[in-house]
Amino acid sequence: MQKAVFEKLDATVSRLGFGAMRLPTLPDGSVDEAQTAQMVEYAISHGVNYFDTAYMYMGGESERVMGRVLKKYPRDSFYLADKMPLQMAKNEQDVKRIFQDQLEKCKVDFFDFYLLHAMDRNRVAWMVDYKAYDFLCAMRREGKIRRLGFSFHDSAEVLDQILSRFEFDFVQVQLNYLDWTVQNARGVYQVLEKHGVPGIVMEPVRGGFLADPPKDAAAVLDEALPGKSYASDALRWVARLDGIKVILSGMSNMAQVIDNVNTFTNEPPMTDAQAAAVDRAAALIAQKKAIACTGCRYCEKCPKGIAIPEIFALYNRRKVFGEAFRVMQTYQTSIAPEHRADACIGCGYCQSQCPQQLKIPELLKACHAELITRGA
Ligand code: SF4
Ligand code: SF4
Repeated sequence: MQKAVFEKLDATVSRLGFGAMRLPTLPDGSVDEAQTAQMVEYAISHGVNYFDTAYMYMGGESERVMGRVLKKYPRDSFYLADKMPLQMAKNEQDVKRIFQDQLEKCKVDFFDFYLLHAMDRNRVAWMVDYKAYDFLCAMRREGKIRRLGFSFHDSAEVLDQILSRFEFDFVQVQLNYLDWTVQNARGVYQVLEKHGVPGIVMEPVRGGFLADPPKDAAAVLDEALPGKSYASDALRWVARLDGIKVILSGMSNMAQVIDNVNTFTNEPPMTDAQAAAVDRAAALIAQKKAIACTGCRYCEKCPKGIAIPEIFALYNRRKVFGEAFRVMQTYQTSIAPEHRADACIGCGYCQSQCPQQLKIPELLKACHAELITRGA
């Protein structure tokens, strides 16, 4: 397993990080803890030592499951990262209560890495108003947090402002070969370099989207990187960036763990020619104009129960693969009428939660219009 060193943070991490946001589930929707434990066992025995959870993941179950599963391993054999959901707090007391709750749920006395979750221009104000930054810095001084950072979803300019104003040990950013240009992840990365702050990457495969690219992009990848999975292509492209230490993958089954471990253990660094081919594939994918939903499900508490990520995934399927008739059938058979896009009442809740800053109600209207037609 490839390793990376956080030079100033006294940590040597596996480049592959185990993201616990898309854990396997049982038919009743609960986390499949037995399968999760097997996946963690495989990952640890192959050198993975970075595990990433959050208060909101898996409806709140991710922390509990990871706490139980990791309990059997020596505490100094893994790094555990958790996150403060400021959107679920209203004041300083809430921040303190949630932090204590997280320590208990994860069955630990300290977090190796701790992040303010999904920071953007609005949440910086909450961080100050709720005194969350002061509190978390105090926790760092007490040793309950070993390294303090934040995950980030906004522009390069906003990141620059945050890092100019506050001192953080690291930042977790959304970066992959498609968002490099489409969402200016390049600019975000350059800000990290400017401030000398190490990065952790989330969504390197764009919520799985890049694991199954459209045919024209897949042909380019097949020619330049024959015999490799498309997820592996995406991970190796990110791994070329020196400022990125950990690359998180939200794994949902053992096959994904095995493939990712193989990528970071046996695959050589991507060559410049291969990376250029990936960039060409990215340009082809960008032309399809898919909706940049990563399936994170932060919008899942929609009061009308609109199946937002499922609807966007179907729309993208149609845009990327052109399967208009099959997509229309799936929309009508797999999503109940009351959960379809046209049942949205435009309350705006989802938009306030979306880290991709998608204009969800507007997009849903456009999706519905396309998803009920057979196509040209
Ligand atoms: S705007 Fe529509 S989709 Fe979004 S939360 Fe409100 S009802 Fe749900
Ligand atoms: S619409 Fe936004 S919040 Fe909802 S799943 Fe997609 S990216 Fe996440």
